Amino acid sequence: MSEARTYVVLLGVPGAGKGTQAKLLEQSTGLPQVSTGDIFRYNLKNQTELGKLAKSYMDKGDLVPDDVTIRMVEDRLQQPDCARGAIMDGFPRNLVQAAAFDKVTAPFGGVRVVPLINVEDDETIRRITGRRSCRTCGAVYHVTLNPPKVEGICDVDGGELYQRDDDKEETVRNRLFVYYKQTSPLIGYYFAKGVLAEVDGSRSINEVQQALMALMG
Ligand code: ADP
Ligand code: AMP
Ligand code: ZN
Repeated sequence: MSEARTYVVLLGVPGAGKGTQAKLLEQSTGLPQVSTGDIFRYNLKNQTELGKLAKSYMDKGDLVPDDVTIRMVEDRLQQPDCARGAIMDGFPRNLVQAAAFDKVTAPFGGVRVVPLINVEDDETIRRITGRRSCRTCGAVYHVTLNPPKVEGICDVDGGELYQRDDDKEETVRNRLFVYYKQTSPLIGYYFAKGVLAEVDGSRSINEVQQALMALMG
């Protein structure tokens, strides 16, 4: 086996707080956040071939095909900043992706821990519908629950805040459906491997972060 790496997989419904927590974990552990949603949005913005392919799926709230997604993640994990591992945010999202991720991580000790961030559905909807994202750096805010210092402007880099197209109610409903149908089986999958750790995600951003840090060992 090669030298062990720390691969963390954040699980939870859309809006549970995975991206928010992944960014904070990145700051405190130095492990990079790997967000497949962010990578797809970057490609969309820059109108790459990958972005053009992903768009129709993202617009509907469906999953982008596995072969494309898995290849994209494999490439990302080979970048030098992932040499000690990564905080996975939004990947894997179904059992095929989970099996592929096991293959990639096996030489480095496999997946270390899978925090499941638990939030009630009505709170999730409240969080998603009020979410605002920075156009330039991807930082995430909420109009009331986690507002920026100046309305509409990112604290980090002054970028413009916008509402993601797929955060509109119609698409949100399909994204939740896709989560329950395709992603939630991963809970059992990782439980059986002994790496699942449930976290109460209904608490404040700080409290959830502390619970996650305690799991990092
Ligand atoms: P995910 O990546 O799981 O889709 P995000 O991290 O983007 O979720 O969070 C969704 C929304 O909820 C954002 O607007 C974020 O600011 C807000 N949020 C995240 N965590 C909390 C929390 N613990 N309490 C209140 N609001 C939160
Ligand atoms: P997210 O930013 O995680 O909410 O993801 C936004 C959208 O990107 C999803 O609704 C999917 O269309 C796509 N996406 C993100 N991650 C994946 C993945 N692992 N597999 C397939 N599609 C994904
Ligand atoms: Zn920003």
